[in-house]
Amino acid sequence: MSNPKEIHARWLYTGSAGAEVLEHQTLCIDEVGRISAIVDSADAPKNRDAEQVHLDNHLLMPGLINCHGHSAMTLLRGYADDLALMPWLQDHIWPTEGRWVDADFVTDGVNLAMAEMIKTGTTTFSDQYFFPDATAKAASEAGMRCQINFPVINVPTQWAQTPNEYISKGLQVRERYKNSALISVIFGPHAPYSLDEPTLQRIRTLSHELDMGVQMHVQETKTEVLHAVELTGERPITTLDRLGLLDPSMQCVHMTSLSKDDIARVARSGAHVIHCPSSNMKLASGACPVHSLLKAGINVALGTDGAASNNGLNLFAEARLAALLAKLTTEDPAALPAEQALYMATLGGARALGLDHETGSLETGKWADCIAINFDSAAMQPVYNPLSQAVYAGHGAHVEASWIAGRLVLKNGKLTTLDETAVLQRAVQWRDKIASQDLN
Ligand SMILES: [Zn+2]
Repeated sequence: MSNPKEIHARWLYTGSAGAEVLEHQTLCIDEVGRISAIVDSADAPKNRDAEQVHLDNHLLMPGLINCHGHSAMTLLRGYADDLALMPWLQDHIWPTEGRWVDADFVTDGVNLAMAEMIKTGTTTFSDQYFFPDATAKAASEAGMRCQINFPVINVPTQWAQTPNEYISKGLQVRERYKNSALISVIFGPHAPYSLDEPTLQRIRTLSHELDMGVQMHVQETKTEVLHAVELTGERPITTLDRLGLLDPSMQCVHMTSLSKDDIARVARSGAHVIHCPSSNMKLASGACPVHSLLKAGINVALGTDGAASNNGLNLFAEARLAALLAKLTTEDPAALPAEQALYMATLGGARALGLDHETGSLETGKWADCIAINFDSAAMQPVYNPLSQAVYAGHGAHVEASWIAGRLVLKNGKLTTLDETAVLQRAVQWRDKIASQDLN
């Protein structure tokens, strides 16, 4: 519980379907942290108990939702660049993770990730990584909304040895956070190629029984699809469809190599696609055909992926890149307008995570997850269209304030729930340890 707030903004964008940017609006937040009203500032209730916030040169809008990432991998930012997916994973990332990843690594990496995400406008993030209990704890303490998709993979790690152990440990994390307002927990089977069919079938059965979502890397590269066809005679999307995993609770990440039949299957199923343009471009994985997916009626959201393959966690940058990449690949400048890219980063993201009744847009009754972007700088003036300005000119650099469930987590550009100096010190210590391993 905290004081109610009245935030008076020069521009306000609710992010609801068909919404337009409104001028001189007041967003009221109740003591629980939910939105109680949005009214013309001239008609604001002037509740004497409410904290008054004035945003005279700002756009107030929904906080961004980063739908795919591996937050702890911020500690491997820049560790192995300019490589293709499989050599990058097999020769660099997996061996290093095998040596260093434990609960402390995850806590320190997630804190670094959250510091970057909050400062660039993200209020909700989805995470797939080992020791998800450490991630959930760190997010909870920093006051950030987080959907854990706990990993399940047919490779033993320090966190779990077998797929069944991954599942039972993940379900324990779900049980621990079942009453949390900030943390939700779903399944994160790594990829069709890293799991066997009985495990995928078990995940499907449990996800239906427990009403849990599933997030998975799917068809990230052409090579992955060709290998699957060689091995099983089926494309991965066909396999997931046959196993009953393609449905509205499914979040398919990447999806760069898609046939017409793949797109039709996903559209029929109501599954969501999470597009990670930076990671796909950096690993030369391919380009997700966002325009065709949207035309087929598929909900597409955005993710940064891990900082080792991006190398940042700035979702505004991702929205900008998604808009530019769609134009480049279709030779159509209207293929993905700024407003649509912003939808993918907000309400589209909330829909993909199954959290759209709680967040993703500024509506009465939803959590007050919102950010303020300051337009009072050389790079942000003049303002004809605040939304396209936020996407094409701002790219996350001008986020000045952020509230999550009504709690101020960024004030005048400074973090209020994380000790940034300590977070950076820990990152330097990890870098020194990991770099010295390579010398031995
Ligand atoms: Zn990933």
